[in-house]
Amino acid sequence: MHVFLLCFYLVLGILPLFTLYFTGFLIDIVLFWLVRKRHYPLFGVLLSASVMVHTVLSAISIGINNLVIMYPLVTLMMQIIIPYARMRIRSVVIFILWVCMIALVFIDHNMVPIWDIGEANTVLAVFNIQLAFLAILIQLTIGNTIMNTIMKANHKELEKSKDQANMDSLTGLFNRRYATMFFERLSKEQDEQTWCVAMLDIDDFKLVNDTHGHQVGDGVLISLGNIIKTNLRKTDVIFRWGGEEFLILLKDVDVPIAFQTLDKLRRKIAEETLETHGKTIKITVTIGVCPLDVHNVEQSVHMSDLLMYKGKASGKNTVIM
Ligand code: GH3
Ligand code: MG
Ligand code: MG
Repeated sequence: MHVFLLCFYLVLGILPLFTLYFTGFLIDIVLFWLVRKRHYPLFGVLLSASVMVHTVLSAISIGINNLVIMYPLVTLMMQIIIPYARMRIRSVVIFILWVCMIALVFIDHNMVPIWDIGEANTVLAVFNIQLAFLAILIQLTIGNTIMNTIMKANHKELEKSKDQANMDSLTGLFNRRYATMFFERLSKEQDEQTWCVAMLDIDDFKLVNDTHGHQVGDGVLISLGNIIKTNLRKTDVIFRWGGEEFLILLKDVDVPIAFQTLDKLRRKIAEETLETHGKTIKITVTIGVCPLDVHNVEQSVHMSDLLMYKGKASGKNTVIM
């Protein structure tokens, strides 16, 4: 399209319009890049804006006898057929396109075009009709495919952001936000499962930070998260509850079994030498564990916290049930 228009204005010797369509050609490259990067809303808005600017400038320059009004009309159709952005954004674009078309009428009434291209208007009008037909045909035939691609991309994006919103960025474990959702789901489940809840807190972690720095502290948190994950079952759920506190849900076990599992984990952590940022660190943890009442989660978590503090008071590096 641009090649035709570029040649057209070059032959007519209207250099400003040649420059205008050359800019359009550059914008097309940006548009192509935006599609490849899946920035669909930006693509749609930029395309619509560039059509409007081109149409208005073209109307001022050579008038509208060449059916330049086809451009905003086809772009208007695009807002309805292709859901490249939220409806609100597309509605705004539709409104601006409407204003643009009204403006074209006023420009035609009140202004004499800068260049009179005479018979060439007919050639341009035929070209514009072909182009409009082609654009409409494309939208109607592959509109659905484009729509599906955009929907899929948006869906993936949403899933990704949902995942990210539920994860603690440092340890990759679930975060406290997700815990709230998880507990809500548990309370609504028909067949009630038996869960135990445990609060795990690193002993004297402040000392690790004070001695080796915050970065090493962070490394310790990551390593500890991994140790917990690899030493529990897939069915157990681990949340990073606070700074150096982890909440653990053990599925289908009673408190004595949970105690055994957690005490094994505690010993494993105490034995392990954590290597991070060129430092070797040894840590211990204190854990409080109790049954989880799915209908009274807050109280159960509070209970596990109290038991954990009891463990701290009794000398740390221990599990209390
Ligand atoms: P206790 O044995 O009683 O638990 O002592 P503690 O030093 O572990 O407990 P305290 O609550 O006094 O200190 C917890 C420390 O955890 C304080 C803070 O600097 C550190 N901390 C919390 N969140 C982070 C984090 O994301 N990264 C790092 N590096 N440190 C953290
Ligand atoms: Mg703490
Ligand atoms: Mg601590």
